[in-house]
Amino acid sequence: MFNKILIANRGEIACRVAATARRMGLKTVAVYSDADASAKHVAACDESVHLGGSAPKDSYLRWKKVIEAAQATGAQAVHPGYGFLSENQDFAKTCVAAGLVFIGPPASAIAAMGLKAESKQLMERAGVPLVPGYHGSDQDPALLQLKADEIGYPVLIKASAGGGGKGMRAVERSQDFADALTSCKREAINSFGSDAVLVEKYVQRPRHIEIQVFGDSFGNYVYLFERDCSVQRRHQKVLEEAPAPGMTPELRARMGEAAVAAARAVNYVGAGTVEFIVEQNDDGRMDFFFMEMNTRLQVEHPVTEAITGLDLVEWQLRVASGEALPCSQDQLKITGHAIEARICAENPDNNFLPATGRLDVYRKPLCSSFAISPLRFDDGVRQGDSISPFYDSMVAKVIVHGDTRAQALARLDDALAQTHIIGLTTNVQFLRHVLQSPSFAQANLDTGLIPREAGVLFNQEHVGLALAAAADVVQTLLDERAAEGNDPFSKTDGWRSHGVFTRRFAFEFAGEQVQAGLTYLHDGALFLSVGETTGVLEFAATPAGIDLSFAGQRALVTVYRQGELAHIHTAQGATRIIAVDLLLHAGEAPAEVGRLTAPMPGKVVSFAVKAGDRVQRGQALAVMDAMKMEHTIAAPIDGVVEELLYAPGDQVVEGAELLKLVVIEA
Ligand code: ADP
Ligand code: ADP
Ligand code: MG
Repeated sequence: MFNKILIANRGEIACRVAATARRMGLKTVAVYSDADASAKHVAACDESVHLGGSAPKDSYLRWKKVIEAAQATGAQAVHPGYGFLSENQDFAKTCVAAGLVFIGPPASAIAAMGLKAESKQLMERAGVPLVPGYHGSDQDPALLQLKADEIGYPVLIKASAGGGGKGMRAVERSQDFADALTSCKREAINSFGSDAVLVEKYVQRPRHIEIQVFGDSFGNYVYLFERDCSVQRRHQKVLEEAPAPGMTPELRARMGEAAVAAARAVNYVGAGTVEFIVEQNDDGRMDFFFMEMNTRLQVEHPVTEAITGLDLVEWQLRVASGEALPCSQDQLKITGHAIEARICAENPDNNFLPATGRLDVYRKPLCSSFAISPLRFDDGVRQGDSISPFYDSMVAKVIVHGDTRAQALARLDDALAQTHIIGLTTNVQFLRHVLQSPSFAQANLDTGLIPREAGVLFNQEHVGLALAAAADVVQTLLDERAAEGNDPFSKTDGWRSHGVFTRRFAFEFAGEQVQAGLTYLHDGALFLSVGETTGVLEFAATPAGIDLSFAGQRALVTVYRQGELAHIHTAQGATRIIAVDLLLHAGEAPAEVGRLTAPMPGKVVSFAVKAGDRVQRGQALAVMDAMKMEHTIAAPIDGVVEELLYAPGDQVVEGAELLKLVVIEA
């Protein structure tokens, strides 16, 4: 075994690898960018080396510098994590040439699986089932059109070098193929530096089921069963679980053996994932087809750790140091059910637009990190840290394990309810809505789940005005009491010797103005009115939150204040209410129209309009790239484009004015 390894990554996965290395008694070296100088992953390692600027190309992707860092610190091996350099064959090759062990497959296996078209040709020869399609090297548009017509519509055009859900176009009709091909090729060359594509049948209502495989350098292989990753947005995973609902032992064995055949065909060593697309037929039969192999540890690997009781990073380190696989196929078994949810900095109600910001409040449920347990919370951030525009939008992963799927699901919902993040927009509540949706609860899984359940997933309100306002009023009273201390002469409990006294409050909730009044009754009781809702207000501060009763509702609430904004968390969900300080807003001008600003920091990819163009509200104006995703910026009003203020390729800050739009007078 090694004495010291360098972890060529950041965030959650760097912390994850460091945790196992520490447990095994290995020293660790972190690398970091300017933005990450005081990041959690640096603190998690024994030593650290600065790589350069915050943008990945100036730091985490500078692989020559990473290799120098390993040599300078005496590390014997390099763990690449996922993303960044993990699937870079030149990096893997150069590590080995420099006398370092690359903790991953041989460079030749990365190369063989790196391009989707070439890897499919290879898989065809190895007898692994493929989605019907064309994956040849002749890229003549007329030929591709002919192949698409032969396959039959709908088809999917995929960038061969693509990844991360980018570079895909579904085409419904033959006459739309040529345009879709042009646009897919344009995105592919911009994002992946190659415009080679493949065309395949677009599977209807498919499931994404992948197999975790492991190989050692003695030619032994095992599969560690499947993960169902069908719940996706933008072709990216949101929830992952194992075992896959509805999986039979017979199908599992066939898929596992196909995955091992795929790994064997490229002399794979270490941890890898073979992704399959599964077609569900009306008679219940499931057909599986090879999609791609990811030649690294996957984000969702903890799900497999939970059901097998194994530490996959430990396996990676053992295999990389020359040991044989710790066990054989017949020694592996599945226990219980596990689900992982990815907490991301994004706004699901605004087309999953990535968010940036500071974790002002970061309250996690009582849990373990990086270790197998019923509730595991893996992250690479701490309260006070920021999610910057430079890297991935994933904040944390919550992994639960239960005896049954229903138990795991209940645990996950509870864990998410206890996760309070303030200062940064996240998908925590959205994840709860997905879990509670009929399709997910009944394990009716396919990649169309999110659009199908949209009605119960987006813009949901589970707390409501009355409870939110009551919670804010109670928090005000508690803050006042805390400020008073025990001084009996400064009591502000509203008691008056002459008659009752009513305090006025003004709120803004879901865009509506609401008046509230709190009346102090003679017997010490409190009577609250929020708009039309009235009732006695009762509360008690407990260590778990405020136990509050108002107008027939009782809940344990936690209130976080950010200026006038109050975030209310309950077991049912979370909401926001503005406690309006009317004096503060006197004489304010209405929001300016006609300015079009960047909703987040990122790069301008292209403009769809030029100066002088007339545009309609909702029309696409520009495309931005931020946090590894493309975002279309639409016109907020009907107008005329007066001037473009940036050029494609420019880096812009949040709030930067992208173009000037003049309102058309009616
Ligand atoms: P999984 O491990 O489940 O496949 P993802 O597909 O989200 O998870 O990818 C894992 C990591 O690799 C993420 O950090 C993602 O942003 C990154 N990634 C995947 N493919 C690419 C790509 N082609 N280019 C850049 N980053 C990628
Ligand atoms: P990436 O490298 O971006 O992960 P994949 O080939 O793994 O690309 O596909 C990502 C997702 O796109 C899949 O999980 C699935 O939801 C969808 N997808 C891929 N191929 C097909 C297909 N032939 N039919 C329908 N959906 C597909
Ligand atoms: Mg994939």
